[in-house]
Amino acid sequence: MSVLLTQFDPESVVRKAYDFAEMAHKDDTRESGEPYFVHCVKVAETVYEWKLDQASIAAALLHDTVEDTAITNKDIANYFGNEIAFLVDGLTKLETIKYQENKEEAEIENLRRFIISFSKDLRVVLIKLADRLHNMQTLQHIPRERREKFALETAEIYAPLAYRLGMQKLSGDLEDLAFPYTDPEGYAWLMKTVTDSYKDRLRYADRVRPMIAKHLVKSGIKPIAVDARAKRYSSLYKKLLRNEMNLDKIYDLVAFRIIVNSIEECYTVLGIVHKLWAPLPGRIKDYIARPKSNGYQSIHTTVFCVDSKIIEIQIRTEEMHEEAEMGIAAHWAYQQVKSDASKKASWTGVKNKIELAWIEQLSNWQKHFTDQEEFMRALKTDFFKERIFVLTPHNDIIDLPIHATPVDFAYRIHTDIGNQCVGARVNKKIVPIDYELKSGDLVEIITHKGKKPSEDWLRFVKSESAKDHIKSILNKKSRFFKEKVETQLMEFKIINTDENGFLKEITSVFADLRINIVYLQSQTDHRKEFSTVTIRTEVLPDAKIQKILLKLKKIQGTKEITYRT
Ligand code: MN
Repeated sequence: MSVLLTQFDPESVVRKAYDFAEMAHKDDTRESGEPYFVHCVKVAETVYEWKLDQASIAAALLHDTVEDTAITNKDIANYFGNEIAFLVDGLTKLETIKYQENKEEAEIENLRRFIISFSKDLRVVLIKLADRLHNMQTLQHIPRERREKFALETAEIYAPLAYRLGMQKLSGDLEDLAFPYTDPEGYAWLMKTVTDSYKDRLRYADRVRPMIAKHLVKSGIKPIAVDARAKRYSSLYKKLLRNEMNLDKIYDLVAFRIIVNSIEECYTVLGIVHKLWAPLPGRIKDYIARPKSNGYQSIHTTVFCVDSKIIEIQIRTEEMHEEAEMGIAAHWAYQQVKSDASKKASWTGVKNKIELAWIEQLSNWQKHFTDQEEFMRALKTDFFKERIFVLTPHNDIIDLPIHATPVDFAYRIHTDIGNQCVGARVNKKIVPIDYELKSGDLVEIITHKGKKPSEDWLRFVKSESAKDHIKSILNKKSRFFKEKVETQLMEFKIINTDENGFLKEITSVFADLRINIVYLQSQTDHRKEFSTVTIRTEVLPDAKIQKILLKLKKIQGTKEITYRT
């Protein structure tokens, strides 16, 4: 019997959703032949295991009703209220996102961001991940020709998405489930090569584990657990590809995991382990002091162990362990989603302060990261909160600034399309050209040959490139100066070779001089590998400008700085 029936009383929303979904799917079967409803229950049970709220569990039960049955979202709203209807609607809409193979990493990254931004509520993403997990677990039942693409989508989109959310266990599970389908030869090779090594290592682990436990207890530490775990196939294979396929170079083929009660104990255990076995120089990684960008915390060390074998040992608290496995779902999910939503609402009220809020975040964040690459990655995933993602009729994803209009979209497609834009259809409906686009909108532009942009457009376009194109056509350079008089702004443009951390360095030049940045945009030209950063501030005295220029010039990779008032 499902845990949902034993854990929730018949009056609960979970039980109501259970009965409702069972009825709705009563005539449907899966490709495996079993009732479709089994899938809904499995997804909901996973969501329950992740300790999400009842609305999420109910939405998980209902997630395929609108998509696959005669039930409409209105029905869901009537029976279950707006919150659950909103979650189900998000899940239904996610199904429409098309994944195409052989995309570049930047486009794939865009798609991942799109999924999060489009979902609007992290609970939608989490339920989607639970759905994907069950679909992958039953992948053998779907037709062969669809398997590979489905597995590839899982490996490229959903596993990294889970990782970003800190759900390392789920991310690894998804990757392992996809691996045999995305790379059958690699998988077969690995199975043949590694099976004996795994067995040897696990035998070795069985010998060493009690020794570790004994020494810890002797030193007054009572570990919660000392485990040995074999490295996952998919991540092992990736590591082998980086290490000439040489298994001897993989020190964490089987790694020990010591779980203790407190952070102090973690460091004590590290000392005990190092007294027992000499550490390999340069292989101690303290993710407690410096967590990974997805929140992962642990201490890793590699030592010369019994029989001079090299092994990796991971040390963490129980809380860290829970978080490493479950990420966002462990401690964060519901409350955080709620507070995020309210934060977002207050942000929309202060449009122009968005960049300021972002800068604030930036300075708070940089304290947590010493690894610049990690930091930039984290930064980029957060930055999209101020971006929207819309679709072309060909299902390409275009990202635009929040509140962007069809004119912004048109200029992103092509300058001529922008110039000749006379109207637009959004989700097949005609809209005014200053219509505010939302993530997920499908946008088509109506053009008319010979049409010229109007000065009026400058009032509502949001993207800098659209503004620049319109201004150059209007040939009214005075426009900028007029704006300047009204708002007293000046502008810096910095061209940089896109070094790690350069954006942070640039913004801290302004922050150090206590200058408010009222506008910031960074555009990267991936082909030429440099970025153009545009920063607007209030009009500054000459001495301050000179100070800024001097400091900006010192930043590594800076190629060109211009400014205008
Ligand atoms: Mn499903």
